[in-house]
Amino acid sequence: MRILISNDDGYFSPGIQALAEVAREFGDVTVVAPERDRSGASNSLTLDRPLSVRVAASGFLYLNGTPTDCVHIAVTGLLDHKPDLVLSGINDGANMGDDTIYSGTVAAAMEGYLLGVPSIAFSLARRGHEHLATASSVARDLLERLTRQPLQGPMLLNVNVPSCPLSELRGVRVTRLGRRHLAEPVVRAKSPRGDTIYWIGPAGAAKEAGPGTDFHAVDQGWASITPLDIDLTAAASLDPVRGWLEQQ
Ligand code: MN
Repeated sequence: MRILISNDDGYFSPGIQALAEVAREFGDVTVVAPERDRSGASNSLTLDRPLSVRVAASGFLYLNGTPTDCVHIAVTGLLDHKPDLVLSGINDGANMGDDTIYSGTVAAAMEGYLLGVPSIAFSLARRGHEHLATASSVARDLLERLTRQPLQGPMLLNVNVPSCPLSELRGVRVTRLGRRHLAEPVVRAKSPRGDTIYWIGPAGAAKEAGPGTDFHAVDQGWASITPLDIDLTAAASLDPVRGWLEQQ
């Protein structure tokens, strides 16, 4: 199996090192990751400047672009083959509910999926890389299952692992995305030169987090697997919008 790995925390992140280590047990691994932390980059492509690929001492390839750039460039020409699997992560922090819209970790996997490759995004729910071994174990378990029984067709899976010792992990649950409250207000401050500056505030707390959601599963000590799709069409709104147009 040929596995392409990326992330959004940068090629030096302990999370991507852990994921590459696990993936090597299952096949040939190529890592192409951003040269710096691009968390929150979502699905952006760099179109206004050229990109350069460099090789780190670890053998990982890194480039001055986004997670989506990394997977796009790897699959569309940098690699001499189409990977069998794209893995992203292990992210430093959760990507649940609405996080998935902004996440560069999910975006890297999404790019693989868009290019026709089964793809999985991994995130460790609490920042700080504590209990990375638990996330590695979940990744190993899923790769073993994939080896025994490949997924039918390209699939995009979003996996979140609770930050707990492996002995406390209850197992894996298939979930749907929950929802968060609105983001915290922007943080206003003064630059050293007296200009007003703004920091985007942290994500809101979980709002729709009942049974069946990723938030609930992870809170209860389960790793969550949410299959994602990319069609943003609001099917339930097609008829209401048609009706609204016809009334005018
Ligand atoms: Mn990140």
